[in-house]
Amino acid sequence: MNDITTTDFSKFGSRERKMTEDLLKAWREQGLPEDFYGDEVAVMLNTHSGCVFLTNADFQVAMMNRDNLESFYSCPICGQEGFKQEMQHNESNEECQEYLRELGVK
Ligand SMILES: [Zn+2]
Repeated sequence: MNDITTTDFSKFGSRERKMTEDLLKAWREQGLPEDFYGDEVAVMLNTHSGCVFLTNADFQVAMMNRDNLESFYSCPICGQEGFKQEMQHNESNEECQEYLRELGVK
């Protein structure tokens, strides 16, 4: 845990608490994303980006993609970030492509 991210709701503004409501409502109505483990789930705020997201014991991230609660990925090779449909990248890099196959993007 560093200073950029927090689970302390006193650090959340009203906009961020609204985003928290949306996350919890989507979790209740849709369930967690299929590949997001339901272990030590917390609502976390990135104080730099203003992003509010669910995270867990494996540091996975789930966020709202419009009305859907979806896993948000970060390529361990190059740092490319996005929801699943945004993750296609670096066609020529075999390591990135291997990661995408593990995600089930390819
Ligand atoms: Zn990559």
